[in-house]
Amino acid sequence: MNGEDLPLREALLTALRRLDALGMNRGSTGNLSHRTGSGIDAAMWITPTGMGADDIGADDFVRLGAEGESRGRWRPSSEAPFHRAVYAARPDLNAIVHCHSPHATALACLRRGLPAFHYMVAVAGGDSVPCVPYHLFGSEALSQAVAQAMRDRDACLLANHGLVAAGATLERAMKVAVEIESLAGIYLAALAVGEPVLLDALQMAAVIERFRHYGQPARREEDGRKAR
Ligand SMILES: [Zn+2]
Repeated sequence: MNGEDLPLREALLTALRRLDALGMNRGSTGNLSHRTGSGIDAAMWITPTGMGADDIGADDFVRLGAEGESRGRWRPSSEAPFHRAVYAARPDLNAIVHCHSPHATALACLRRGLPAFHYMVAVAGGDSVPCVPYHLFGSEALSQAVAQAMRDRDACLLANHGLVAAGATLERAMKVAVEIESLAGIYLAALAVGEPVLLDALQMAAVIERFRHYGQPARREEDGRKAR
């Protein structure tokens, strides 16, 4: 693999360590990937199976081709199939973060997604974050369910399992994951007292519209460049 995509693999390692530091990942349960190449060279770099942030270096990521052929010294994450399915369904997404973060996972164990209880729910691109039905990890059924849920969202919860978040850049995918975990914690706290009041479709549409134009102009330009 030599120096191929080394900055990208280093960025994935930094992100994985950050998930641990934030208490969003533990051991080898989480996995991250980044798309690379295009056309017949389309592939992704993904975390190796069974290894945590403390066990791996940038050279331990696995390059997985479009047909599932892998390159690297380790086997890819057992959850690679849903990463591949999401990339196939969403050409605009280039990075995926998956973890069993405590609040999002607690909510997923109740088989509840996030409704429009807070305006920041729009961070995932819509007025809710769905929770997909339970399927065995690594299964084709789970891949299809995740790809379906993320057709028009940048995140979803997996029933009795965890969280998936994605973005045009790794930075964006991490931001969505961190925000969804935070929102899940707030939603659980609110549910402990009563039933939160939901924002209506018009209110959420206004937030989604505002998010399209939010941020520093130079920053948006930079994000756009990274996304290309
Ligand atoms: Zn998982």
